[in-house]
Amino acid sequence: MTDQEALFSKIADLRRLIDYHNHRYYGLDRPEIEDADYDKLFRELVDLENEHPELITADSPTQRVGFAPIEKFIPFQHEAPLLSLENAMNIEEARDFDRRVRKLLTTDADIEYVAELKMDGLAVELVYENGVLIGAGTRGDGLTGEDVSQNVKTIRSAPWRLSSKDGPLPAKLAVRGEVFIDKRDFEKLNEERSARGEPPFANPRNAAAGSLRQLDPSITAARPLKVFFYGIGTFISDEEFRTHSDILNRLQRFGLPVNPELRLCNSMGQAVSYFEELVEKREYLPYEIDGVVIKVNDLAAQKLLGEKSRSPRWAIALKFSPNQVQTHVLEIGVNVGRTGIITPVAILNPVLVGGVRVKRATLHNIDEIQRKDVRVGDAVLVQRAGDVIPEIAEVIKSKRTGEPDVFEMPMLCPACSAAVVRLPDEAFHRCINRNCPAQIKGAIVHFASRDAMDINGLGDRIVSRFIDEKIIYAVSDLYRLGLENLEHLSGFGKKSAQNLLKSIEASRHVTLSRFLYALGISHVGTFVADLLANTFGSLERVRSARTEDLQKTRGIGEKVATSIATYFSNPQNCRLVDELLALGVKIKNPQPAGPVKTGFWSEKTVVFTGALSTMSRQEAGREVSARGARVTESVSAKTDVVVAGEDPGAKLDKARKLGVRIMDENEFIRVVSGE
Ligand code: NAD
Repeated sequence: MTDQEALFSKIADLRRLIDYHNHRYYGLDRPEIEDADYDKLFRELVDLENEHPELITADSPTQRVGFAPIEKFIPFQHEAPLLSLENAMNIEEARDFDRRVRKLLTTDADIEYVAELKMDGLAVELVYENGVLIGAGTRGDGLTGEDVSQNVKTIRSAPWRLSSKDGPLPAKLAVRGEVFIDKRDFEKLNEERSARGEPPFANPRNAAAGSLRQLDPSITAARPLKVFFYGIGTFISDEEFRTHSDILNRLQRFGLPVNPELRLCNSMGQAVSYFEELVEKREYLPYEIDGVVIKVNDLAAQKLLGEKSRSPRWAIALKFSPNQVQTHVLEIGVNVGRTGIITPVAILNPVLVGGVRVKRATLHNIDEIQRKDVRVGDAVLVQRAGDVIPEIAEVIKSKRTGEPDVFEMPMLCPACSAAVVRLPDEAFHRCINRNCPAQIKGAIVHFASRDAMDINGLGDRIVSRFIDEKIIYAVSDLYRLGLENLEHLSGFGKKSAQNLLKSIEASRHVTLSRFLYALGISHVGTFVADLLANTFGSLERVRSARTEDLQKTRGIGEKVATSIATYFSNPQNCRLVDELLALGVKIKNPQPAGPVKTGFWSEKTVVFTGALSTMSRQEAGREVSARGARVTESVSAKTDVVVAGEDPGAKLDKARKLGVRIMDENEFIRVVSGE
């Protein structure tokens, strides 16, 4: 492939990928990747297009707004385009924007800006004729949105009539705003959904969008949506405005809610200070924001600056750093895992990190707490990287008041009161009771998880309830559940009960690899489970394998082999396996290996590192295993390919040193799909 061809193909891949995520985010309200990861993809495409402007096409996602409305809604035409905003990822980029504005306006003087909160919700336009609300639509692709008139009418803060107490009403007003949901209402909504066995929304933005974009307005009416207005489209009236602040004031006097948290700034410097204040204040606002929108205040200047195809030249969204967000530690608790390991966790004042709400962060173990010196009440920076669980990056010691107590690990398990021990060569504390309810709960959640038996609807909360209410005592009890056990559970409707039973029923037919993984044997992840299944071919053969036999499998070392053999030498574990089989779990053995595959991946040893944006590492591993590759965890001279996703870490450095071939995600997808 020539350099030019590689560039074409990279740009085409990025556009395809972004379109796919746009469809999930705007069309389905079910994004698959985090906003921060999406923003990186988008930025990569913008940068490539800036370097090669000749390759920009009108249908590139960088030139379009949002996504075309989906068909189930009646289209809603915007008279004036409802655009998106250009993003500044840091203060320097906001200053660049200011320089560009001054250059275009040919002035050295400071520009007056209005800095507003960037509400994290969904854009809407409401149209009033002679003061009466006649329709409302979502943004859609900027020209055509979805008609949500009936739904918007159910939002209490969206008036049906404008107030005329401050003068005559415009013949027509198209007013723009953001529909959102308060943090507290979002929590409540998710609790209700979980209780009904419905999947929770990932963040308030998705909850707001999913609630507004309903065909049945009574569903929208039951959701606590609110709206703040921040601008106008069409405005037919004798009244004229000179500045954007004038517009906001007038909207308010029409009775339209405008967010009072805004600031008139004499320069970009002041707007940046406001942004910095909000980094602190954000945590305590009742709703989520993801940055500040900075708009040129003078409307004549706005007109001169004009618009690009996707965004106006007179406004910029200065976004908070997606990776590290400040919050406070409310409490330090401990979590008992399925293997009895006790992990300390920080309970946080909830914050949005990279588009996902974070309420807890792992503190790993006692050494880690001591190293970082985390204490209750501390201001901390929380971060998420790739698919990693949120963690505390740093304690902001300068903000500590007083001398809070140093955290100590409990001596007794909080779930069963058995002794907690720390073995001399371990970093972790453990509960020694194998019948500890927290361990059983963890084992069931793992058993039901997506890569294991894949029992839809059997998440953490439901399992906790089942155990607390003594509906189940062990994994095998799942296959003894009937409608009569679930019907009387409060908040658990008949439909949810039937759906759950259907999922349990479907899980009875399972591949050997999934079943082995589901058992939760220490060190047996999906990779090892696949290896075991493909090498030994049946449960009986895995079960009777000795440590030496297991160790002969490439990819299985002594530690893993010992763990598997020890698991099956324990009569309690064997009883569980027998019980599951007796209860009707049917295991499908892998097909004996077919003719030797000769494609690119055949016989290759592959290592995955970092997060992939289009699939999980497990899924990617399965793709290449099915094509004859061997997936291993660590990079060595025997490794043929390292596939590096986001935040790849030390494995990538090692691969570079050893001269191993490295593929990024796009190349990986190309090579896999080329076979
Ligand atoms: P945007 O959210 O970056 O900015 C434009 C929007 O900001 C406006 O349309 C308006 O709705 C909103 N807004 C809030 N407060 C405002 C105010 N005071 N004044 C003006 N506008 C205000 O742009 P977008 O095109 O809506 O969305 C792009 C973003 O959505 C991306 O940066 C990404 O974070 C997210 N996204 C995520 C995925 C995913 O798969 N995770 C996919 C697509 C988009």
